[in-house]
Amino acid sequence: MENCLFCKIARGHLPSRKVFEDDEIFAFHDINPARPVHLLVIPKRHITSLATVTDADAPVLGKMLAIAGRLASEQGSPDGFRLIINSGRIGHQEVQHLHAHIVGGPDPVGPMLKRV
Ligand code: 5GP
Ligand code: ZN
Repeated sequence: MENCLFCKIARGHLPSRKVFEDDEIFAFHDINPARPVHLLVIPKRHITSLATVTDADAPVLGKMLAIAGRLASEQGSPDGFRLIINSGRIGHQEVQHLHAHIVGGPDPVGPMLKRV
């Protein structure tokens, strides 16, 4: 995807504060952190949204989940964290390249959602 922001970050064509990379996934600090720990984990291959994944995407999604706890712990949230994947219009996804937010400590991140 030529004009995708996170594709460019994953390829190193745009700068980011990288915390992890392997052949399939890339993790970096969110540019506008909502909590002291706020990381983004993305597949290197362009996947638009969790709302549109297929069975073929399951292995890379599994890798994203499997690395989250280690990254949270290493980056300053050893006592837990929250993983958020905003998806599509209803989920208020702003960047159209699938990404998991890891948000955390040192203090609890608070209630899951405000009730409406
Ligand atoms: P979304 O609302 O799509 O779930 O979240 C997009 C996230 O990407 C936001 O938290 C935003 O701060 C982050 N973001 C947007 N542009 C950039 C960028 O250029 N670099 C980094 N590191 N994060 C970005
Ligand atoms: Zn992309």
